[in-house]
Amino acid sequence: MTNAKYFLIIDLEATCSKDGAIPRHQMEIIEIGAVMLNSSTWNVDSEFQQFIKPIIHPQLTDFCTELTTIKQQDVDVAPTLAEVISQFKKWMLSFDNYTFCSWGNYDKNQFIQDCKFHQIPYPFTSTHRNIKQEFSEYLGVSRKFGMAQALQYLGMELQGTHHRGIDDARNIATIFKYMHTQNSKK
Ligand code: AMP
Ligand code: MG
Repeated sequence: MTNAKYFLIIDLEATCSKDGAIPRHQMEIIEIGAVMLNSSTWNVDSEFQQFIKPIIHPQLTDFCTELTTIKQQDVDVAPTLAEVISQFKKWMLSFDNYTFCSWGNYDKNQFIQDCKFHQIPYPFTSTHRNIKQEFSEYLGVSRKFGMAQALQYLGMELQGTHHRGIDDARNIATIFKYMHTQNSKK
């Protein structure tokens, strides 16, 4: 296990449909939400949030807007991933030692898929921490929890809007902090 100074917790939102109109391999990132969680103080030292314009399915489905609250206008005026990535890397690289973490493997796989599509290099090292899996290990159970379920299990309120990248990233940071600052296991 790496000894990162920061845990870079990322939560992505992406184009989606409920009827199969947007298959998994055509989903594209529409929001990057990211927080730099300091592993010494357990404070979030910095945040990054950016909406992104999708290319394959530029029109958001009503389902997607209802799920995420991200509006057509938000992505219409947003830059593409290729444009956002340099700004994102600039922010990320201003921290010298961090490990990419997310709730499950979805966000990592979505990043890999989008980078391939836009022909841009994957911006992380191969190290990735799956906090969803670590949460189950922390509890000593095989059951997997959604982020909202995990908060509920811990008796914590979900802050902000569920399925908004930046709010999800903040909430995941709260769970991760709890896992590392509580002495006794539940
Ligand atoms: P989340 O981080 O849970 O907000 O989910 C990330 C992305 O996964 C969303 O922006 C959607 O593209 C997709 N997603 C999440 N939940 C669903 C769902 N119930 N049906 C279809 N797509 C979903
Ligand atoms: Mg999310």
